[in-house]
Parts: sequence; structure tokens; C-alpha cells
Amino acid sequence: MFSLKSPIIYCKGVTAQRAELLQQELGIKSCNDLLHLFPYRYVDKTRFYKINQLQSTAAEVQVIGKITQVKRVQQKRGSRLVAIFSDETGSIELVWFKGVKWVKEVLKINTPYVIYGKLNLFNNTFSMPHPEMELLTEYKKKVQSAMQPIYPSTEKLTKKNITTKVVRTLIQNLFVQIDAKVKETLSPTFIAQYNLISRSEALLNVHFPTSQEKLAVAQHRLKFEELFFIQLQLIRKKLIRQHKNKGYRFENVGNYFNSFYKNNLPFDLTNAQKKVLKEIRKDVASEVQMNRLLQGDVGSGKTIVALLTMLLALDNGFQAALMAPTEILATQHFNAVKELLGSMDIQVELLTGSTKSKKRKEIHQHLEDGTLHILIGTHALLEDKVVFKNLGIAIIDEQHRFGVAQRSKMWKKNELPPHILVMTATPIPRTLAMSVYGDLDISVIDELPSGRKEVKTVHRFDKNRLAVFKFLKDEIAKGRQVYIVYPLIQESAAMDYKDLMDGYESIARDFPAPQYQISIVHGKMKSADKDYEMQRFVKGETQIMVATTVIEVGVNVPNASVMVIESSERFGLSQLHQLRGRVGRGADQSYCILLSDYKLSEEAKTRLKTMVETSDGFKIAEVDLKLRGPGNIMGTQQSGVLNLKIADVVKDTAVLVKARNAAIELLQKDPHLSREENRAILETYTQIQKSTGLWSAIS
Ligand code: ADP
Ligand code: MG
Repeated sequence: MFSLKSPIIYCKGVTAQRAELLQQELGIKSCNDLLHLFPYRYVDKTRFYKINQLQSTAAEVQVIGKITQVKRVQQKRGSRLVAIFSDETGSIELVWFKGVKWVKEVLKINTPYVIYGKLNLFNNTFSMPHPEMELLTEYKKKVQSAMQPIYPSTEKLTKKNITTKVVRTLIQNLFVQIDAKVKETLSPTFIAQYNLISRSEALLNVHFPTSQEKLAVAQHRLKFEELFFIQLQLIRKKLIRQHKNKGYRFENVGNYFNSFYKNNLPFDLTNAQKKVLKEIRKDVASEVQMNRLLQGDVGSGKTIVALLTMLLALDNGFQAALMAPTEILATQHFNAVKELLGSMDIQVELLTGSTKSKKRKEIHQHLEDGTLHILIGTHALLEDKVVFKNLGIAIIDEQHRFGVAQRSKMWKKNELPPHILVMTATPIPRTLAMSVYGDLDISVIDELPSGRKEVKTVHRFDKNRLAVFKFLKDEIAKGRQVYIVYPLIQESAAMDYKDLMDGYESIARDFPAPQYQISIVHGKMKSADKDYEMQRFVKGETQIMVATTVIEVGVNVPNASVMVIESSERFGLSQLHQLRGRVGRGADQSYCILLSDYKLSEEAKTRLKTMVETSDGFKIAEVDLKLRGPGNIMGTQQSGVLNLKIADVVKDTAVLVKARNAAIELLQKDPHLSREENRAILETYTQIQKSTGLWSAIS
């Protein structure tokens, strides 16, 4: 019996050779896979649109109108041509980046044209880059075709003649074979409630749309469904965890917390810090284990929140742990915590890979007998030998360096899982956070301590290095310190080390001793040497710190006011933002100087421009997400957002929010999906749990 689960070879028109190619090139194994090979665009010459009817879809559109005005817009490099194209209902812009001169000459003003192309929506205005154009009089002489889906393809498929047309025929055949019997995954009430169309109608219309409107509702239904089932899994996971993972209850705000707050707090907390503390406090005071992600831009003051949270644990008779990804960072946390605690009677220790074995034994012992209150360290905290008497909370800083496996390993150190607070300075756009961390609760510190001056950021070419050095000398003369950072990329490590060393030598020449003292820190150094160099800089004995990105995370030297980034075009946006966060921590005006080569890719230009224009970590993260896609954003690998077939976590924000709310509402009403009306949803959900992805599960 033919079913959608049948291997692709059972589809009409699929020969053995085609089956093999389809699998090899597009991963299509079953007829079901073929059904879910979605067109990535559509050619729509079926109808003409009035300008006020235009909407964003994956399809191209055809409009009749006239050009009323043509202007050349100068841009950094070259110019672009913009034509205002109007019909009686409105106007859009036609844009050319190439062939500007020639296009300008041939365009006819106030003459009816048929234009055809894809729309961009920018600042609420539609524009069409490089449209296909034809004079209306010419157009009328030709026969026109229908709306066509265009399928993903590869060079090999094209070469073997499996064209988009062939794929279209195969899918047509498939629809005949399955006789419109596509299983529904959502219940009728649900479909009605969210104004969706049926699954079979959606599939038919996504492959063979008869109009833009039908295509849009079909795409919406499938995107909604795709995002809904991901959210359903995440939220269910969260509910199950909350239900199952009983946690320690920190009932009291006691002496440690209160006395610290009264006597030791060096500044007033920002409102954002207070808000976040309240959220944490509420979590740990309940009987459920906390699993919270704390997002806060660099310098937003996460450390003090971490410390206060740990004091809550201590007040309730528990121990606390704080884990950081590098030794430098862990040491810095340790020093900061010691200093903040001052003379309070709290035992704090540091455990890293380089802790001497005698000290290590001592720590192990005091952890077990409970005399050690707070343990700060690196991955070393995860070793089996590290056993707490009663760990109440584990705080993980800069979580993107730790995997999920490690996170859960922390939990096993106890009879009940300790509360978990994950802190990250990598802002994640809200929508992505919903998909990646949908099973965690999220707190955001969205405000910097007052009095911070924005870091002035400029972009300079290598040629201007001497002027930059002069500027550094002036700043150093004022008593400030300076970072100069070099890229170090795994793939080109040898070359990069050479650049770093060459750079160091030339800096040493321009900044001669004894007037200037220079520290250098990089990954190949022994950690004791690194530490020594770092400490010299921290103490102000050296004015210049030459380093690779080892200083990227968390390092805090308030007197350092200039960050120079060499070959800045080679850094990713979030890395640049992290680096810049190393300055601007003191009272002085700080600067970030992005040095680069003249030759820059478009993407690199956008990155540098973004850095110069904004210091808002969330805005930067949004741009980063748009540039690189979700695949490169930390933490997405496990999240399923990469397996999306039709929805796009960046573009389909509105659908995502709707789908998430739908999932929450559904699980509130029917936590186990046990109601008869939700049977279809439960079945799909169960199948997804057992399989690799949504679409292969539904067949
Ligand atoms: P991050 O969130 O990057 O870890 P830190 O916790 O290192 O930030 O804080 C950055 C700096 O800001 C530190 O020097 C810290 O003492 C200071 N700080 C934190 N909170 C406040 C506040 N509410 N008011 C003033 N300074 C603060
Ligand atoms: Mg920090």
C-alpha cells in the first residue's frame, strides 16, 4: 500500500537514479519528504497588483504604472538610481545598484510600464531592486503564463535534468497519489481559534498557489504549525521540569544578605538589577528548582546580582558556586567577591586548573564539611572529586562557553538539583531566545548603571595608525591605559600569532621603555605568565595591554579607557561588542578604535558601521542575527531553529509570538494534552518526540 512513509521510489515518476539523486542532493528519502520540499519563491505573472494591495510574501509581483521621477543617490561607493513608480493608488521605489548610467538613459518618464520583481519593505516603503521591466505596449503582444513555484535545486540536479519543472510534476503526481489525504495535525477547534486553514489545503496551496492571498494563508498555516510544535515541546519541558524538579526553598532573607546590603553595597542598585533580583528571589523562594537565564549587556552589573543571589543561599544554610569559562575571569570574580565581602565572615575559595594539589585537597575537604561557603572557579568545579555538602545554587557566567551537558552535570552534585542561574553578556534577540532558551525563564538587565559615558567608537584605516598611536600617547599621558587587541582565528592561528608578535614589536618601538610599559597576553602563554602580565596591567604598572581575544570576556580594569582593535574586519559583531565592553567602566570618556584594511566585504562594512552607530547590545545582536542567520548564534544548535523548513526565526517574529502564546494557552488548559479535542496535537507531539524533526514526523 502506498503511503507517505514509502520510500521516494514509490512516487510516480521517480526512477532509481532520480531517487538516489534526490536523496543525495536534497535529503529526500520518503514521499513525505518530497511533500515537504517547499518552494523558496514563486513566479507570479497571473495578475497585476495595485500598489496599495502589495504585501510581503515570498512571491514576486507584477505592477502597471509610470515612472514619475528618477534620481541618482550618491553612496559611499558609486551611486544608486532610484525611480519613483506610481499608479493611481500609490508609489513604490525602483532601485538599481548596477548599470546606473545605462538604466538612467533608457528609462522613459510618464510612460506605462509593466514591472515585475521581488519587493523589499524598508522604512514602510516598498522598493523593488533591479525589476524586470517592459513597456506596456510590448507586454500586450505576448502570451502570459500562470503562477509557478520554484524549488530548491543543486548544480548536480540541474545537470541531471531534475529541474524545478520536473520536481513540480513529481509533486503533482504525488498529490494525485495521496488523493488529498494529508493527515491533520491540529484540532478543528484550534484551527478555528487561530484562524488557520487545514493542513491539506495549506500544502496544496503552498505548492500550487492560485493567488498571492492563498499563498500567504497557506504559508502562514505551515509556519505557525512548525513554530507551534517547537514551542509546545519547549514549554512542556519547562512545565515538566517545574513539576518534577523540586528545589530547595530559600525562605529567608537573612543576615548575610541584609548586612551586605546595608554595609557593603558600594553603590545603589539600578532598577533593572533590583527587578532581576526580585525575579530570582521569587524563584528560589518557591519549591521549584530555578532555571533562569540572566541576560545583561557588558557592564550592566551582573556580578553583584550573582553575589546577592549567593548570599541568599548562604542565609538559608546552603553553599553557592560560581563558574566562569576562563581562569582570568574566575580569578577576577574571586577577587571582586572577596573585595565586596570585605570583612564579612564568609569563606570563599578559588578552584581552577592551576590550583595546587595541597590547596585543592583543602578545598575539597571544606566543601564536604560545609565550612566553605562560596566556591568560585572554572570547569574544574565540574570534576567528580568536587563534592559539596549542600550546594544550593550554581551560577554560570558567560554560558555560551558551556554546553547544556555541563549545565545539567552541575545538577547532579546533590540530592535535589541546586538552583541554576546562567548569566550571559551576549544579548540574544528576544525571538531567538524564545526558541533557544524557551525552556528557561529569562531575566534581563536592560539598563546600565547611571553616569556611564558611552564609548566613542570610530573606524580608521591602517594607514592612519600613526595618528591613532599619537592619540594613545595623549591618553596615556593623562594617566589612562590602553588595550590593543589582535584577532586570533583557529584556522589561521600561525599567521595570526605572527601578526600579533609583529604588532607587539612595532608597538614596542613606538612606545619605548622606560617611558612606556607593555603587557602581552595570549593563549599560548602559560597561565602563570598570563596572570602575571594581567596583574601588572590591573595594577597600572603597564599602560598598554597587547592581547588576543583572551581578554574578551569579563576583564575589568576601570582605568583602561581605550580599546584598539586591529584587523577589526575579521571579528564578528558580538565579539567586537564584547571587546568594546572592556572599556567605559570608569569615570573617564572611553574610546574604541576599529582599525581595518581598505578592502572590506559588504558584511564587514555593515559590522563596523553598526559598531560605530550603536552601543546597544540588543540592536547589535539583531544585526548579527540578520547577517549570519541563527545557525551561527550561540546555543542555537540544540534548539531546532536550524531545522526549520518554512518559518524563519528572524523574519517570522509575529507568527512565532502567536505560536508560543498558543502553546502556552493550550498547555494551561490541557497540560497533558489528554482532552479528546487535542488528540491530533498529542499524536503529532508524541511522534516528534520520537523522531528527528517535525516534518518527518508527520506522515
Ligand atoms: P557585567 O554585567 O559585565 O559582568 P560587572 O558586574 O562586571 O558587569 O559590573 C561592571 C562594573 O559596574 C563593575 O565595576 C561594577 O562594580 C559596576 N557596577 C555594577 N552595578 C553598579 C551600579 N548599580 N552602580 C554603579 N556601578 C555598578
Ligand atoms: Mg561579568
